Amino acid sequence: MTVASRCATTATSLGGGDPTAPPPANPFSLVDLQARSVAYLRVSVTDRCNYRCTYCMPADGVSVVPRAELLSFDEIARLVRLFVDLGVRKVRITGGEPLVRRDIVKLVEQVAAIAGVQDLSMTTNGHLLKDLAQPLRDAGLQRLNVSIDTLDAQRFAQVTRQGSLAAVLAGLDAAARAGFVHTKLNAVVLKGLNDHEVVDLAAFAAERDLILRYIEYMPIGVDQFWGPQTYWPMDQVRQTLATAWALQPDGDHGLPGGGPARYWRGVLRSNPSRTVRLGFIAAISENFCRLCNRVRLSSTGTLRECLSTAGALSLRDMIRQGCGDEQIRQAMRDALLGKVDGHRFDAAEKTLESMSAIGG
Ligand code: SAM
Ligand code: SF4
Repeated sequence: MTVASRCATTATSLGGGDPTAPPPANPFSLVDLQARSVAYLRVSVTDRCNYRCTYCMPADGVSVVPRAELLSFDEIARLVRLFVDLGVRKVRITGGEPLVRRDIVKLVEQVAAIAGVQDLSMTTNGHLLKDLAQPLRDAGLQRLNVSIDTLDAQRFAQVTRQGSLAAVLAGLDAAARAGFVHTKLNAVVLKGLNDHEVVDLAAFAAERDLILRYIEYMPIGVDQFWGPQTYWPMDQVRQTLATAWALQPDGDHGLPGGGPARYWRGVLRSNPSRTVRLGFIAAISENFCRLCNRVRLSSTGTLRECLSTAGALSLRDMIRQGCGDEQIRQAMRDALLGKVDGHRFDAAEKTLESMSAIGG
């Protein structure tokens, strides 16, 4: 169905509505054909980034879309509100690098004011966090995920191409000072690059009372980089960890709604009073699609039902062509019926879009 024909159906409210009004009780929540309910929305607010991570994008970056094609703050807020009407309760702001979007603090404020958003978080590379942590906290951001793949400054610069470990560490300090708790670290584990750092990363997280999530490298984006030379499975990570940390199942391990990470408590063998919460995201070796509870909204307003498949529905076009709230909600519900039952990371259907464009 074209956007024009979607908008031509029964007239309903055309406006953005009152963002602070409580979400209507709506029996038609976002449920897919596998009966998975979607309660978690990841919103990419920009396709731009100040880093060039080797596993995420080519050295000269990826081509970015003209700014006019990005969703405006009002468009993002309206779509978040409509997702909330359909049962979404957790919203994560991501990118590209979300902190390079101008006035990001204002957007956070706008989204935080939407009644029904119970959990508002952000995934960031942390480079600009030093100055922004407190304003983000004041604007209503509740939690942070900071990506940090290595604790070696030189290796960090090599992996991120233009990043600075010192800046990210300063960002983490600022986040703690601003009152962020339960901050998560994201570490993509790459063979031969940082696979030998998994024990040190856990010690670092324990020291700072952070939650560390190890992420399996997925074949997204920089196509020629993914392969047996870089891919490192989670069971290898756990084996290496086990030399220093005893692992005990923990928390929302495997529970529906808890998302793809499997959480464990690490207990330091040499000092059992030292513990750390560790998450493992094994997209390739331990398919987690059964537990998937999320959808993604790209920075240009495309609804992406699965990380591994390109989305087809442009919610931005619907807004810009004057569709009403109910028409957009109906389109969201319809799109969810096309959510695949499991990811398509096999060679034939590998996505060439970079993770920076998708939002991770
Ligand atoms: N720029 C922000 C950052 O790096 O945290 C947010 C966007 S980034 C695309 C979100 C997450 O995706 C990061 O933790 C990053 O390490 C991870 N990521 C990027 N490319 C990946 C890949 N091919 N496989 C697995 N994780 C990836
Ligand atoms: Fe690195 Fe995130 Fe930027 Fe990708 S989007 S290059 S993972 S900082």
